[in-house]
Amino acid sequence: MDLSLSKQQAELVQTVRGLAETEIKPYIQGRDFPNKDGFDWHLVNKLSELNLVCPTIPVEYGGLGLDIFTTCLVVEELAAACSGLTAVVDANVHAVQPILLAGSERQKQRVLPKLAGSNASLSAFALTESSGGSDINSMTTFAEKTAQGYVVNGRKDYILNAPQAEFISLFAFSDRIQKKSSMRCFIIPRDTPGVSTGNVRDMAALDYAEIAEVVFDNAAVDQSMVIKSDEPYSGYLLLSQTFDIGRVLVGATSVGISRAAYELAYGHADGRIQFDRKIKNHQAVSHTLAEMATRIEMARLITWKACWLIDKGDDFTVASAMAKLAASTIAQEVTAEAADILGARAYEKGSPMERLLRDARILSTIEGTNYIQRNIIASLL
Ligand SMILES: Cc1cc2nc3c(=O)[nH]c(=O)nc-3n(C[C@H](O)[C@H](O)[C@H](O)COP(=O)(O)OP(=O)(O)OC[C@H]3O[C@@H](n4cnc5c(N)ncnc54)[C@H](O)[C@@H]3O)c2cc1C
Repeated sequence: MDLSLSKQQAELVQTVRGLAETEIKPYIQGRDFPNKDGFDWHLVNKLSELNLVCPTIPVEYGGLGLDIFTTCLVVEELAAACSGLTAVVDANVHAVQPILLAGSERQKQRVLPKLAGSNASLSAFALTESSGGSDINSMTTFAEKTAQGYVVNGRKDYILNAPQAEFISLFAFSDRIQKKSSMRCFIIPRDTPGVSTGNVRDMAALDYAEIAEVVFDNAAVDQSMVIKSDEPYSGYLLLSQTFDIGRVLVGATSVGISRAAYELAYGHADGRIQFDRKIKNHQAVSHTLAEMATRIEMARLITWKACWLIDKGDDFTVASAMAKLAASTIAQEVTAEAADILGARAYEKGSPMERLLRDARILSTIEGTNYIQRNIIASLL
C-alpha cells in the first residue's frame, strides 16, 4: 500500500488549504450564524469557483470526478477551517451518491450538471423523520403509486441544505406493510408543487450550514425520477451503500476538526508561560499533545483505509463504520484535551475552539449514531 499523495492530490490540498486560510477562516471569524437575511452563499460560491461544491460529480457532467479518497482530502482541509461549510459539501456528496450508484442516464443529465461548475446549486439527502432516525422502519413518509409515478406525503427532519436544495434525494416507503423492502429513492426537484421547507432547526453546531424539515404535501414525482426498479429491498440496499460511503466523509471531517484543535492547542502551549516556562514544557501538557497527534494520525489512517477499499470496489461496510466511529470519538477526545490546554479562553462564544468543541460533539450523531456503528460492526464480526 502506498500512502503518498499524487502530485495532483498534493496540489489540490494546497489549493484548498490556501482558500481556507485566506477566505474561509477570516470570513467566519466573528460572524453569527444562521444569517438573519437568509442563507449566506459567500463560502459556497468560493468553493464553486474551484468546482468543489460536490467534488464527486463525474467530469462528463461538469464536475471534477474526484474519487472518495481525494474527496476526503478536500473534506479534511475544509473541516479544519469550517465544519459547517464541510457539512454543506458532505450533504451534497451524500445526496448525489444514489444517483451515481444507480441513477439512469436521464437522471444524471437532469441533476448532476446543476450541482457542478462555477455556479453550483445545493442538494439534500432526506431520510430522518421525527418518528424515526435510527429506526428506519418507524418512518411514516409514504409514496403512493399512481399511473405516472408516485405521490408523496410526509415530513423529513434535520435535513442539511433543506432550505436551499434544488434537488432532494428522498428515501420513503411505497408499501405500508412491506416497509423496508418497498423503500424507494426519489429525486425530487425543489420546485415540485407540494414540496416546502418546514421548521428551520436552530442547531448549536455546524455554524454556516442550515438544517430544516422538508414537507411533502401530495407532491407528485414522475416515474422517471425514481431510482432503481421495483425489486424488493433495492431501495434499502441503495440507502445502505450510500451511508457506507457517507460515513468516511464524517471520518475526514473528524480528522479536520481534530487537526484544527491540535494546532490551536500547540500554538497556545508554545506561547503561554506559567510557572516560568512555556506550558508545552510541562510534561503533562507535552504528553497530551503527543497523544493528540498520535490519535489524529490513527483517525486519518483508518479513514484512508476505508476510502482505499471504497475506491477499489472492495467490501467496505465494516471499514467505513469503524472509520466513522473511531475518528469521531477521537475528535471528541482531542477537542476536549485542546480546550483543557487553552484554559478559560477555549469557552469564549464564537471563538475557534468553542466552535470546534460543539462541532466535534455532534459527529457521534450524524450519519448514523455511534451506537448504530457499533451495531453494524458487531453484526459483521
Ligand atoms: C447536524 C445534523 C445533521 C443531520 N443531517 C441529516 C440529513 O441531512 N439528512 C438526514 O436524513 N438526517 C440528518 N440528520 C439526522 C441524523 O441522521 C439522526 O439524528 C440520526 O440518525 C439519529 O436519529 P435520532 O436523532 O432520531 O436519534 P434516535 O434514533 O432517536 O436515537 C436516540 C439514541 O438512541 C440510540 N439508539 C436507538 N436505537 C438503537 C439501537 N438499536 N441500538 C443502540 N442504540 C440505539 C441512538 O444511538 C441514540 O443514541 C442530521 C442530524 C444532525 C444532528
